[in-house]
Amino acid sequence: MNPKARKQFAQHWLHSEEVLSQIVTAANLQPSDRLLEIGPGTGILTQQLLPQVQSLVAVEIDRDLCKLLVRKLGKIDNFLLLKGDFLSLYLDELLVSFPNFQKPNKVVANIPYNITGPILEKLLGTISQPAVPAFDLIVLLVQKEVAQRLCAQPGSRTFGALSVRVQYLAACEFICDVPAKSFSPPPKVDSAVVRLRPQLVQQPANEPKYLETLLKLGFASKRKMLRNNLKSLVERDRLTQLLEQLEINPQARAEDLSVAQWVTLSNKLLQRFSFR
Ligand code: SAH
Repeated sequence: MNPKARKQFAQHWLHSEEVLSQIVTAANLQPSDRLLEIGPGTGILTQQLLPQVQSLVAVEIDRDLCKLLVRKLGKIDNFLLLKGDFLSLYLDELLVSFPNFQKPNKVVANIPYNITGPILEKLLGTISQPAVPAFDLIVLLVQKEVAQRLCAQPGSRTFGALSVRVQYLAACEFICDVPAKSFSPPPKVDSAVVRLRPQLVQQPANEPKYLETLLKLGFASKRKMLRNNLKSLVERDRLTQLLEQLEINPQARAEDLSVAQWVTLSNKLLQRFSFR
């Protein structure tokens, strides 16, 4: 019997064998892998992962679940459980005392949806501060809407600031849909498995901080044209000219530009400033 799910920790127990095996397959596990799992819950995914890898460190916030996990998996040599909030944990420092679990190379997790954004940021870093060292692979079960945004193409309805920020830092793949009924209790939304392979875009920005500012302003008001959103930063006519030069429709909205186009725009704008 599974423990009662706590809303406060966004607990939904996955019970679909099919989804579990899709997550495991997507992780392309190797005997040398050192995994990180966030929110192991009752350990349903953990149990499938452990026999296939060198080690697995799991971070769980719920004390009662930690007790249950220790009872279930505590005797397994390649398993380490850390009790606490993943977001406020200094993982590298904690793992210094556990050499076998240091520097995990992959993340495989069915994460709590209420902190998806901050988890992604902790795993990938930001445009101006990418996480170092980067993970080889990150397989996550997330809300379907987030999965769609992570994997969206420019110009599509779901492409937004999150898409640019994450696609700048990682190649994103949509692995499979996961209907709400695969969990108990079922969440209000459908879910999906995504696979992220951290790697910087081919041509990174010359000034990543500036690109971050540009994205913040550019996406600030979704329905407005880019040149209106950026008017506090660049004169409208100059931006129109620059967009034309880059073969981008001057009436484009932020979500129409690809990651590469954002980078070029950021670099060109800076060039123009420094030549004045
Ligand atoms: N992986 C399990 C449980 C997923 S539910 C399964 O697939 O069934 C999300 C899990 O994340 C819960 O176990 C919850 O207690 C845990 N959790 C929530 N917030 C957390 C945080 N800040 N740090 C670590 N774990 C957290």
